Amino acid sequence: MSASDCIFCKIVARTSDSQEIYQDETTLAFMDIHPANDGHCLVIPKAHFETVFDMPPAAFGRVGSTAAKVARAVNEVLRPRGVSLIQANGELAGQSVLHVHVHVLPRRTDDNLLINWDRNSNNERRFDRERIAEIAVRLRSRLRG
Ligand code: AMP
Ligand code: ZN
Repeated sequence: MSASDCIFCKIVARTSDSQEIYQDETTLAFMDIHPANDGHCLVIPKAHFETVFDMPPAAFGRVGSTAAKVARAVNEVLRPRGVSLIQANGELAGQSVLHVHVHVLPRRTDDNLLINWDRNSNNERRFDRERIAEIAVRLRSRLRG
């Protein structure tokens, strides 16, 4: 998708409406038009990047910084029981708009937002300590490079 077809670029350019809540030089925050929950908002870089893999990590850092600022405001103003920050890359991860965005999701008791994987079952392969350590070795090596 090119930037000229991108709904979030249109919001940045103000050729499409949004309920903007915050902006600085490089980032913008606005209310999600189909909120998963009351207070659901989005934080985006003003520049068009499809996924986190397409942008310099420091640019994502600025998005993260604004997301933290917005999350604090959501927490103080709406007083939810918690706040989830979610960012999807690729269709399989749940990304439908191909312009990087962080969801700021206020959480409430029994809100049934299905992002809670099972943390507790005992016999799962994914919980195996050696498996975790092996994956850590591969990631550490890539992150050193
Ligand atoms: P995702 O599915 O993670 O890519 O999230 C895209 C989000 O963008 C969804 O939650 C949509 O409701 C939201 N969205 C799409 N178009 C607009 C728009 N014009 N204004 C505000 N939010 C939007
Ligand atoms: Zn865009």
